[in-house]
Amino acid sequence: MKIIDAHSHIDYISHNVQTGVVATVCCATCESEWQNLINITNVDKNVYGAFGVHPWFVADIKDGFELRLENLLKSNDSFMIGEIGLDKYKPDMDKQIDVFQKQFEIAIKLKRSVFLHCVGAWDKILHILKQYKKSELPTIVAHGFNGSVEILDTLINNGNVFISFNKVVPEYIQNTPINKILVETDGKNNIVLSDMVDKISNIKSENNAGEIIYENTLKVLQNG
Ligand SMILES: [Zn+2]
Repeated sequence: MKIIDAHSHIDYISHNVQTGVVATVCCATCESEWQNLINITNVDKNVYGAFGVHPWFVADIKDGFELRLENLLKSNDSFMIGEIGLDKYKPDMDKQIDVFQKQFEIAIKLKRSVFLHCVGAWDKILHILKQYKKSELPTIVAHGFNGSVEILDTLINNGNVFISFNKVVPEYIQNTPINKILVETDGKNNIVLSDMVDKISNIKSENNAGEIIYENTLKVLQNG
């Protein structure tokens, strides 16, 4: 079985340590990590880089970050956008929204996949997504999904959204089509992806779950 970790960070390259994991998506969280992540992707072709500013770190943003982000993405067709989003439990929601929208606009313009962090703010994210035509929306990965089943349904039925899990919650798995499921460590070494895939395979009664999840992740990496 081949597995791609759909969401990690630069300090945890899953395929170096986990059996069955062949590639890792590393999400930057702030601009000071971008160069480090570029260096890693230059050396290891199985690391896929997503660049952005995480909602926890919007206070540290320097002027012009969005231009630097756009130029960085233009310099490499395989780079994606992440980790971006909104978090109700972190300060300055207005700035979080502004920073998220700027980065999301770049994803639309350059047609790059987005790795989305959303905690307690699905109403705001869905409101923003509704401002765009479905056909304009980039591929979106809702990472570490923790919303309601209603929101899960809305996401699955609205555009090109994949749901990425770092734990197996049967209710979520039952309500997510197998062709929308990804698995991730979120940079945590106690999350064993091959175990997760086995559990998902059981819940879905789908022997090919591992292969399908792998193919789902490839679609995201190909920005489609
Ligand atoms: Zn993360």
